Amino acid sequence: MASTATLRGQTGKDKTGFSDRLLDWYDDNARTLPWRTGPAARRGGQMPDPYRVWLSEVMLQQTTVATVSPRFETFLRRWPTVADLAAAPIDDVLGEWAGLGYYARARNLHACAVAVTERFGGQFPDTEEELLTLPGIGQYTAAAVAAIAFDRPATVVDGNVDRVIVRQFALDRPVREIKPEIYAHAADLTPVARAGDYAQAMMDLGATVCRPKSPQCLLCPVRISCDAHAEGIASDLPMKPAKKARPTRYGHVYAAVNRAGAVVTEKRADKGLFGGMAGLPTSDWSKDGLPDRDDPFPADWVEEGAVEHTLTHFHLVLTVWRAGLSRLPKGYQWTEDMSTLPTVFRKAVEISA
Ligand code: SF4
Repeated sequence: MASTATLRGQTGKDKTGFSDRLLDWYDDNARTLPWRTGPAARRGGQMPDPYRVWLSEVMLQQTTVATVSPRFETFLRRWPTVADLAAAPIDDVLGEWAGLGYYARARNLHACAVAVTERFGGQFPDTEEELLTLPGIGQYTAAAVAAIAFDRPATVVDGNVDRVIVRQFALDRPVREIKPEIYAHAADLTPVARAGDYAQAMMDLGATVCRPKSPQCLLCPVRISCDAHAEGIASDLPMKPAKKARPTRYGHVYAAVNRAGAVVTEKRADKGLFGGMAGLPTSDWSKDGLPDRDDPFPADWVEEGAVEHTLTHFHLVLTVWRAGLSRLPKGYQWTEDMSTLPTVFRKAVEISA
């Protein structure tokens, strides 16, 4: 039951009441997730493996729980410990990351595993300050690992928490304009006890109850303190920022296949989009309409249509050219397993199959 003790934070909300109500709800409603140690197990003294917490948090920054869950299991089967991941060839890690977005994160993931192994003897450090010294770990991930793996009262603010805070305090400006304000409110509400459960409870509340489109206020354990609910504006928040058009870039992509179904690929430059990954040869990508063809090597190229793919900063439209090929051109390689290719190239192979 919620404690009767009350501490008024700077926010003016009943801080202890808020966390008590939320934690009571979490005890009964925590999502079961492959990387999670549930509230009952934690109360029994079981703490999660920091490696699992870190790996899941890095994966979840780019994609949904449903997508990450099976991929997380595969990663763990292949590299059960941080030392195993550190010892893996980077190309294997990049291949396993295919389809999970930003490849720079996979590079950082590997670099971080190496740093934990070399600098910290294979044990993740347990403070935000030390975690922040590791490659690819920013404020959010440091706070999440410190709280969830080590029960540090760190302030964990992801997209779900942004939304809960914006609604609790009826903050009527777009999230990106009021990040420090959201963080200050979130910090003020964070309890010292059960910090790991609390961080996950906030995430679960945002994901399952305080949902983006249709908040389930009648089921909400912290409805009593919610300003947006009281004002009847929960569905209108967070306010949307003014839309910025995403530019389109155009180019050509080349799928040369052999009789066995393998496709000619090249290793992309380490820096830049899909850095270090295997990819199909392409022309440059132009903002000013389709550029001239730029065939990577002589072949009987046939136009097969176009693939479209939306990336973070632009929309990509690639004209797909296909050719049959038996001999591998110099400087290229055959790729048989299309699942190791970034999604846009997989689409290009599929359209030309
Ligand atoms: Fe979100 Fe509604 Fe709960 Fe407020 S009452 S936190 S808007 S679900």
